[in-house]
Amino acid sequence: MLANSLIELDRAHLIHPVASYRGHERQGVRVLKSARGATVTDASGHQLVDGFAGLWCVNAGYGHESIVEAAARQMRELPYATGYFDLGSEAAIRLAAELADRAPGDLNRLYFTLGGSDAVDSTIRFVHYYWHAKGQPKRDQFISIQQGYHGSSTVGAGLTALPAFHAGFGLPFDWQHKIPSPYPYRNPVGEDAATIIDASLSTLKAKIEEIGPDRVAAFYAEPIQGSGGVIVPPKGWIKAIRDLCHHCGILFIADEVITGFGRTGPLFACADEDIVPDMMTVAKGLTSGYVPMGAVFMSDGVYDVIADGAGEAAVGHGYTYSAHPVSAAVALEVLKLYEGGLLENGHKAGVRLMAGLESLRDHPLVGDVRGRGMLAGVELVTDKAKKTPLPAAAMPARRIFDRAWDNGLVIRAFPQGVLGYAPPLCCTDAEIDAIIERTRKTLDQTLADPDVR
Ligand code: PMP
Repeated sequence: MLANSLIELDRAHLIHPVASYRGHERQGVRVLKSARGATVTDASGHQLVDGFAGLWCVNAGYGHESIVEAAARQMRELPYATGYFDLGSEAAIRLAAELADRAPGDLNRLYFTLGGSDAVDSTIRFVHYYWHAKGQPKRDQFISIQQGYHGSSTVGAGLTALPAFHAGFGLPFDWQHKIPSPYPYRNPVGEDAATIIDASLSTLKAKIEEIGPDRVAAFYAEPIQGSGGVIVPPKGWIKAIRDLCHHCGILFIADEVITGFGRTGPLFACADEDIVPDMMTVAKGLTSGYVPMGAVFMSDGVYDVIADGAGEAAVGHGYTYSAHPVSAAVALEVLKLYEGGLLENGHKAGVRLMAGLESLRDHPLVGDVRGRGMLAGVELVTDKAKKTPLPAAAMPARRIFDRAWDNGLVIRAFPQGVLGYAPPLCCTDAEIDAIIERTRKTLDQTLADPDVR
């Protein structure tokens, strides 16, 4: 009864992010009620393994009392402090210091936001400010990558390169340029790593020439493209691109909103790739989704140019909730949990997850399996040799998501027929095995569905 009345209230009042409004009105909401570890329970009591950690964010898993305690302690002592001007809180200062200590290279300066979109947006503002301060205001053109996702803010959504985020919104802006994704499974140059890297370098060089070498301000990349369908560039790709950007005097921004905080193994994927970006954005795993928070890591070099450029004037960028002390207290506790065993468990679970997903390659629908650590994608096709995508008209993502849900598994099903996996790092062997078994069952049901073939 309760669930039914909630469904009606939801239908009447709640606008859902990234949903078909009319489709959702027909379908109705699925209400989650509680969660522990890697298991979520819906309002009807149905239990599911959360193979997607909420929205690739609950890296630590659900139900950590120590996180709840950290938030409660901070709320009792000081629930809010502005970071504006020269004010601050101990939690935010300690968090900045702890993160700088663990960041790649000289990314020693932290700017806290409420999530990933405003972290990306902040970098756009900082990039402009940086080039103005350097006396090169004409460097105002930005490049990102097809299938990339950099949030849903008015400006950042134009760096995103997914059709639904542009159509009807007047995006992208004419200063937002794209190069093709390295996408090994569907790259016209084939799957060889060196060839893909060479091709990306050529297209980036050509794009820089086309825009004008003295016009390009910054280049944005995710170490692994998440929302575009968990696209894993070859190892070395991001370093080669970063080196080219530096050679051309272009700022390189790594968007680690998904890949940060143990998702691919280490605390930051950039460390794995041995690169130091000029700025790096994070969110999601920073607080493990318990409260909202994101951050921009800024290099000392970029910071100094901005600081010197501003002189005694205020750099006019800030939010009421920048460096929120409750979020910071949660992030400090989550960091302890990562380093107290979660990263290690995530590494072990990631090996089991990837091996399990690889074992699905024998399934007639599985065209590609890719991933790193606890971040993986399985691309479905109707013809493996021709790599034929599932027919879009059958809305396979919707059907696959629904079936997986009924089978007790939360995954992400991307519209092009890619299954996304990002389970909490706390997963046990049994939970990883359940993810694989339930995926196979879902695939068998999909294979038997005449509309999807
Ligand atoms: N960048 C990347 C790489 C992301 O994956 C996301 C969110 N999925 C964002 C930015 C935006 O973050 P948020 O949803 O917290 O605004």
